Order: sequence, then C-alpha cells, then structure tokens
Amino acid sequence: MSDILKIAVQKSGRLYDGSMKLLKECGIGVSNGNNQLKVTATNFPVEIYFLRDDDIPEYVQDAVADIGIVGENVALEAGKEVNRIEQLGFGKCRLSLAVPKNGNLQQVQDLEGKKIATSYPNLLSSFLRSVSVNASIHEISGSVEIAPRIGLADAICDLVSSGSTLFTNELVELQTILQSEAILISNQQLSPGKLQILERLLFRIRAVKKAQNNKYVLLNAPNDKLDSICRLLPGIKSPTILPLAEAGWSSVHSVISESDFWNVIEQLKANGAEGILIIPIEKMIA
Ligand code: ATP
Ligand code: ZN
Repeated sequence: MSDILKIAVQKSGRLYDGSMKLLKECGIGVSNGNNQLKVTATNFPVEIYFLRDDDIPEYVQDAVADIGIVGENVALEAGKEVNRIEQLGFGKCRLSLAVPKNGNLQQVQDLEGKKIATSYPNLLSSFLRSVSVNASIHEISGSVEIAPRIGLADAICDLVSSGSTLFTNELVELQTILQSEAILISNQQLSPGKLQILERLLFRIRAVKKAQNNKYVLLNAPNDKLDSICRLLPGIKSPTILPLAEAGWSSVHSVISESDFWNVIEQLKANGAEGILIIPIEKMIA
C-alpha cells in the first residue's frame, strides 16, 4: 500500500479557516463533507483529521496523526514529544499576563504571592520561575478574563490578539510571555515514505508563504533614471527591463518584500518611477 500522510487540523475555531486555506493554496483539494472526522484529498496523498486543537499534540506524538497544525502556544503548553517544523504565518496572538486596570499590580514582581488564573499553567509556571516570582496558579479552561472580576484570581495569563477582550473586562496587559502563531508539528518517527510526502508538502507551504511575503511590481521609468531605480529593486535575480513604445522610457518588473514595501514605493516615486503597479504573487519558487 502506498503511504498516506495524516494531517490533524482544528475541527472548528480560530485556526480552521487558515489551515484549510493553506492546504488549498498548496493544491490539496478536499471535498469538505458535513462535519466529517476525516477526509481524503483527491489529488495528494494526505488524509485530513478534524480534531480539537488541544488534542493535536498528543495525537501527533502517538502517531494517530503524522503531522498537525496547532498554535505554538498549544504545542509548547502540551510539552509532547513532537517536532516543531514550520511557522505558518497565521493565527498570530500572544500569551500575556494581565491585571485589573488602575489597580496596585503594576509590574511582574507585584505578582509575588498572588493568584493567577490561566489555561496555560505550564507556560506560566516556567515564566514565573524565570523571573523568580512565586504565585499560585489557578487553572481554568475558559473565560479566564472574568476571573479577577468574580474574585477568583488577582491576575490572568491568557491569549491576546487585538486586546479588546481585555479592554471590555477592564484589564491591562502587564507582560507578554510568548508570541505565537500556527505551526506545523510532526511525529518524530515518520517512515521514509511519509517523510517524502512531508517534504513535498513543505516545499509547497514555503512557496505559498514566500509569495504572501512578496509582491510583483511593474513601473515605467525614464531611461536615465534606470540605474537608481534598479538599485532599489533587487528582484529574484535582477529586475527585468523592457523598452516602452515611447522612446527614452522602459518598463521595469521586479519582486519586492512586503516588509519594506511602502518604503521602497516612496523611494521609487522619488526617483522618477511612474505608473507603478503592484500585483500579488500566487506562488513563488526561488
Ligand atoms: P477547540 O475547540 O479546538 O479546543 P479553542 O477554543 O481551544 O478550540 P480557539 O479559540 O479556536 O481554540 O483558538 C485556537 C488557537 O488560535 C489558539 O490556541 C491560538 O493559537 C490562536 N489564536 C489566535 N488569536 C487568538 C485569540 N485572540 N484568542 C485565542 N486564540 C487565538
Ligand atoms: Zn482548545
């Protein structure tokens, strides 16, 4: 029988859409049935299992699934023996300590002897150890943010993205203890056949991620400005330059990174570029 790679994905919740979108962009088509536990891809040797995110690290450790997509926060908290192989660029959030606003807890040291509610007891206790603070950890599985108001705890340690949940509960962030995003984890003893499928999948994931971090840029430039404009545009090898029908002008094509995108555009304009077009890249294979 030929190998099939079993991928665990969150059944529903914050990582579901991002996980399915990534697989789709990797060319993995699934006919997503109603509420199925498992689907088989039609055009790639993978099966997708839909599970609760908290269970994914253990299932991957125990080879129920070969690989899984989970928040780094969940993977680290679970402390299972799995390989963390790739950050996936979505599901970004942070695990933070938060305290009632306008209270007398203003720095981490003020938590000495206090009670902190969290769903992340392992990550919290190793953080507290690292800053030599002794506090008691009260583990709860949900709605952590209401704990201070109902007198269950003095502070909380919870996931934050926009901060609006903290704001509505009159809490303020004291300290971030972990930056997290969705990651790919894998079982530590994959067969050679499964490893090969994983390599093919990783190749695709990296092409998708790279494309998301880059844009294709087209612009017109007077020929006497080409040198300075090309210096701003390294491209994959170097920019493509094509003559325009109008004498003395060229069209320049290149790739620029999302991270310094606006800076580069401003400098291109300042150097005489006109008619600048920015186009998303679907896949990028360097
Ligand atoms: P499940 O039913 O699968 O156990 P859950 O309720 O534990 O789901 P979600 O709230 O869907 O989990 O969050 C899944 C993951 O999404 C988190 O572990 C985290 O990595 C990520 N995430 C991103 N932003 C946030 C946020 N603002 N709050 C909570 N999780 C976030
Ligand atoms: Zn969960």
